[in-house]
Amino acid sequence: MRTVGRIGFVGLGAMGEPMATQLAAAAPVLVYDVDQEKARRLAETVENVTAAESAAELAPAHMVICMLPSSAIVEAVILGPAGLAEVLAPGALIVDMSSSDPRRTVELAHAVSERGLELVDAPVSGGVRQARIGELTVMFGGSAAQLERCMPAFEAVGSRVVHVGWVGAAHALKALNNVMSAVGLSVACEVVEVGRRFGLDPNIMLEVINSSTGRNHATETKIAQYVLSGSYDSGFLLRLMLKDLGIAAELAHDVGAETPIGQACLDLWTRAAEALPADADQTRIAEVLQGDIVREGGDA
Ligand code: NAD
Repeated sequence: MRTVGRIGFVGLGAMGEPMATQLAAAAPVLVYDVDQEKARRLAETVENVTAAESAAELAPAHMVICMLPSSAIVEAVILGPAGLAEVLAPGALIVDMSSSDPRRTVELAHAVSERGLELVDAPVSGGVRQARIGELTVMFGGSAAQLERCMPAFEAVGSRVVHVGWVGAAHALKALNNVMSAVGLSVACEVVEVGRRFGLDPNIMLEVINSSTGRNHATETKIAQYVLSGSYDSGFLLRLMLKDLGIAAELAHDVGAETPIGQACLDLWTRAAEALPADADQTRIAEVLQGDIVREGGDA
């Protein structure tokens, strides 16, 4: 593995914690999370990791990766008081690996460029399982030279890197991918529920569907594992998926595209988010479709 200089990493949640752990095998990593206990714990358990108590303490890093819930939080960490834009040395590169809003990413890249910094987008797919083994897919938005600069870090967290286009392009693609992921999960939960009520065995349904034309990522990797098992712990929050559906809907609106399926999915997940706790896993959309949470007409 090629080595990289000192890297800053902000956001040690379900994805950030395993990603920072993988990175630490390639380079010294300075980690920060608003929940300081997460940073302290990682520094205690993983070699090459040092905990920072604020974003300002990431000042020595030549590259800072953000793995945060939303554009609003990424902007606060970068442009807020004593934020990255204030403390990083000119020439430093900020890599937003969160699933952010592409239009806000373009604006943010412009804002940091006025302070001599660069910002690129590099969202990931694969989820927590792939993050733990360093096999994420990384989508990249930025120049070829910027990609070259990021490659050693990407090689540490991912097994596939795709140069999607300009800054913001990768964030757009990530949101669009997640529309398909949410629609696939929703329809899988829906048909399994219809079959169950008719008296079919959901496990037999999956066995057939997974060797038939109806199979998708959810039928293969989520329904048996997280829904039928009752564990509801895929590691991706329902409210984060809802954020991605909202980003994609705004994108579609901006380009004048009709998205009846995406819109129906957005409506369903909005109702689900209103009815379920803030920390509900995405797979709990099944409970909504089972009628346990939201009855027809949207009443909780
Ligand atoms: P998460 O909610 O588990 O983690 C977010 C982390 O950010 C938390 O540790 C939180 O304390 C920290 N944080 C929040 N505000 C902060 C601030 N102001 N300063 C510093 N730290 C702050 O989320 P996650 O599942 O790790 O997802 C992170 C991003 O990656 C999201 O944009 C999500 O949409 C995307 N994503 C998630 C998955 C997944 O499977 N979980 C997969 C691909 C992409």
